[in-house]
Amino acid sequence: MTELNPDELCFIPLGGSEQFGINLNCYAYKDRLLVVDCGIGFADERFPGIDLLLPDPAFLEENKDALEGIVITHAHEDHVGALVHIWPRLRCPVYCSPFTAAILNHKLQEAGLIRDVNVQIVRPGKAFKMLGPFRVGVVHVAHSIPDTRSLIIETDLGRIVHSGDWNLDPAPVLGKPTDEEAFIRAGEEGVLAYVGDSTNSAVPGRAGSESDVEKGLEEVFAECKGRIAVTMFASNIGRMRSVALAAQASGRSVALAGRSLHTMAGAARSCGYLEGLPEFLDIGDAKDIPAGNLVIIVTGSQGEARAALARIAKGEFRDVQLDRGDTVIFSARPIPGNEKDINTVKNNLVAGGIKIITPDDTKHRIHVSGHPCRDEIIDMYNWLKPRIVIPVHGERVQLEAHADLARECQIKHVIVPVNGAVIRLAPGVPETVDHVETAVLAIDQNRLIPVDHQSIAARRKLQFTGAAHVTLVVDARGNLMRDPQVTTEGLCDPGEDDFEERIVNEIDEILEDLTWEERADDKFLTEEIRIGVRRFCAHILGIKPKTSVHLVRL
Ligand SMILES: [Zn+2]
Ligand SMILES: [Zn+2]
Repeated sequence: MTELNPDELCFIPLGGSEQFGINLNCYAYKDRLLVVDCGIGFADERFPGIDLLLPDPAFLEENKDALEGIVITHAHEDHVGALVHIWPRLRCPVYCSPFTAAILNHKLQEAGLIRDVNVQIVRPGKAFKMLGPFRVGVVHVAHSIPDTRSLIIETDLGRIVHSGDWNLDPAPVLGKPTDEEAFIRAGEEGVLAYVGDSTNSAVPGRAGSESDVEKGLEEVFAECKGRIAVTMFASNIGRMRSVALAAQASGRSVALAGRSLHTMAGAARSCGYLEGLPEFLDIGDAKDIPAGNLVIIVTGSQGEARAALARIAKGEFRDVQLDRGDTVIFSARPIPGNEKDINTVKNNLVAGGIKIITPDDTKHRIHVSGHPCRDEIIDMYNWLKPRIVIPVHGERVQLEAHADLARECQIKHVIVPVNGAVIRLAPGVPETVDHVETAVLAIDQNRLIPVDHQSIAARRKLQFTGAAHVTLVVDARGNLMRDPQVTTEGLCDPGEDDFEERIVNEIDEILEDLTWEERADDKFLTEEIRIGVRRFCAHILGIKPKTSVHLVRL
């Protein structure tokens, strides 16, 4: 186990500092640990059969007794999604905002953990919470999900601002703008370190305002004649409000299509965030509404095959049928890696004569990012005047862009972390002093496995190579007792040609070339056939399949 110096205040990113998603951050001081966020990531094609990735909690588990608690900044999956999977290994209190608690409790209920986890609500402006040597306060920030918080973590060695995700939307349609005063106050009192969102650190200007999206949608709706479907992230309750208000102004009713929208709308309603809006229609009742009076909010903006939009695009969604003259509005940006899936959905829609509008296709604003662009990050530096800046929440490119910006703004110490770095913030010159083991876990059906697990590597390989299986039944002298059985996977179409038969002939020839002593040796015989079949496939197809030989000696 890594021995941490109890007299040093350290920041240890355990996930999210080299990739989008799987955010898991840790602060260590006086032999106590404070954890911030616990999120999932989405697996790409490098992980066949895997949808979700988690940060490995091994370091925290080894130091379970030192854990003061987990503070969740907001309810996005990349910040809260891993908690139900990881909490049973840590079993510590969880702190979050009311909306985050509503979402989290739903997950805990589904996971059968609702009775076990002590979820405590912390509110901005209230007294700081003492968690061991950490005094933790929360600040309200604007973001693309309600009740998002930054943390101000005070210790006797200095004050840390952990931003979480935020932007400076001057006029959100839901909740208040970011509490600038709280950051200015923290800056006046002195900020040792700012650990902050890097997502849009390469994007100039400002994120913009959700109010403009509401107007933009209204303008786009006015140009549409048939049905309108708006696809977006289900958790973006502000956007849900924008769509509802724009629909109201256009004389259209709103229906929801997709399970996660109902879950999110339920949580939002329980927190009072949908007040003043007409009730959403059940999607089953949407059929009865004239096309020109309907807006449907649908899940699936990232091209997810099982989400409502992908099924609508294929005409396989029972309750909604979109036709020529209808419009689908993408009120979201692709998460890097999802472009292919999104294009599949778009192609299906266009093939059906349905019009598509993305944020790039229209002069009207139909999307704003929830993350700060460069001018907003500069505002934050001006308020906080931190001694240290540590960029997190991004891939290498975004972290480095954030670091460059911090240096341009004359920040004295800028440290770009890697996952597992133990970064001493104080006392003395801040620097990386150690590393702890980190890893990424994959949710594989019902189990958690490391992403470098043999099974995933094998699957990845099989995708490219295919496989050949040979069964040989021979007598003691190695004479064939039956015809060799050959099956292949991913090498040829079933019945396409006589490829498997040609492999059988090849096996016959290999056997003929062997002496009876060689054929009597199980190990030798198996290996000769395996190599021979592999070589044969490479010669014919140009690929070397994974080849296995089962030898049965009678
Ligand atoms: Zn995030
Ligand atoms: Zn977020």
